[in-house]
Amino acid sequence: MSNYQIVYMSVLIFLDQSEGHIKKNSFEAASYGAKVAELMGTSAEGIVFGKVNDDLASLGAYGLKKIHTISGEGATELDSQVFTNALAQAVTTLEAKVVVFANNLDGKAIAPRLSAKLKAGLVSGAVALPDTTNGFVVKKNVFSGKAFANVAINTEIKIIALNPNSHKVIKTEGTAEVSELNIQTPAGKVKVTAVNKVVGEIPLAEAELVISGGRGLKGSENWHLITDLAKLLGAATACSRAVADAGWRPHHEHVGQTGLAIAPNLYFAVGMSGAIQHLAGVNRSKVIVVVNKDPEAPFFKAADYGIVGDAFEVMPKIIEAVKKLKGVS
Ligand SMILES: Cc1cc2nc3c(=O)[nH]c(=O)nc-3n(C[C@H](O)[C@H](O)[C@H](O)COP(=O)(O)OP(=O)(O)OC[C@H]3O[C@@H](n4cnc5c(N)ncnc54)[C@H](O)[C@@H]3O)c2cc1C
Repeated sequence: MSNYQIVYMSVLIFLDQSEGHIKKNSFEAASYGAKVAELMGTSAEGIVFGKVNDDLASLGAYGLKKIHTISGEGATELDSQVFTNALAQAVTTLEAKVVVFANNLDGKAIAPRLSAKLKAGLVSGAVALPDTTNGFVVKKNVFSGKAFANVAINTEIKIIALNPNSHKVIKTEGTAEVSELNIQTPAGKVKVTAVNKVVGEIPLAEAELVISGGRGLKGSENWHLITDLAKLLGAATACSRAVADAGWRPHHEHVGQTGLAIAPNLYFAVGMSGAIQHLAGVNRSKVIVVVNKDPEAPFFKAADYGIVGDAFEVMPKIIEAVKKLKGVS
């Protein structure tokens, strides 16, 4: 039996927002943080920067007792230095002992800085709740998802960045108390002068459904097989590095070890071999469907559903079937 006792004060969850709306990954982080708080016998509280249009009190349904808001000039756009400074003050003021981020762009920008500032141990890419039977041990992905590591955090303050799709969103009932934290956020050193958004496309990093094409599609002229299905399903489009290198698709669509790592609910891969470097970016997808004419293609080993067949025959049939299902001509 251990001869020391750790007192956990609260679990603080960073809630990511975009254009006034809380992002999907934050609901996962909130549900996860609420479970961590339950394990610790303490309460879970959220913290959000800038103006939010969503009803913050309703986030109580995800297990958050309180939501702290931070306003000010530096709170409107993500500036990792400004946000880190403000969060460090919040952690001290609120006596938080565990801080949870989603391991997305914002989480990756802030969590390591906060870890350095507070001299707090950080596990990024966490995939499970901490094991608190003997210390505080968090399981994470290593080697591009090929293995797991159990990492013990021994510092008083602990930081966890949760991989997307690693924890179920748990929504029940409840209302959170919302109040403004009196923390200054001066304008940062970096000034955003313009934001150019691609209109009409679903952002790949946050897409629930992704239709992706590989070299098996033979050329950019055949990409309608990917984009037509994506449009019908409201999905984002992606591709292999080989495809982006060939100039068939833009590089921001390339997923994998050297591209974007994604974790959609559906990853639909057409004419892709499933190289290890590609799988590194997509193996956290909930459901993987593969269309490939080679039954020995490695991608089938990672797939939940597989269609062995020629993409040029299979895809038009799938597109027709979805059209019929949706009543689209
Ligand atoms: C350091 C390093 C980093 C890398 N990083 C990445 C990365 O981040 N992302 C990435 O994707 N790759 C990456 N690669 C490249 C990777 O190794 C593969 O070369 C690449 O993923 C292959 O792309 P592909 O599956 O589109 O093409 P291919 O490997 O050529 O596969 C094409 C597939 O299409 C199938 N096919 C052919 N015709 C048809 C048809 N008519 N119908 C159905 N199926 C058909 C074939 O059977 C084959 O399986 C990296 C490589 C290195 C060395």
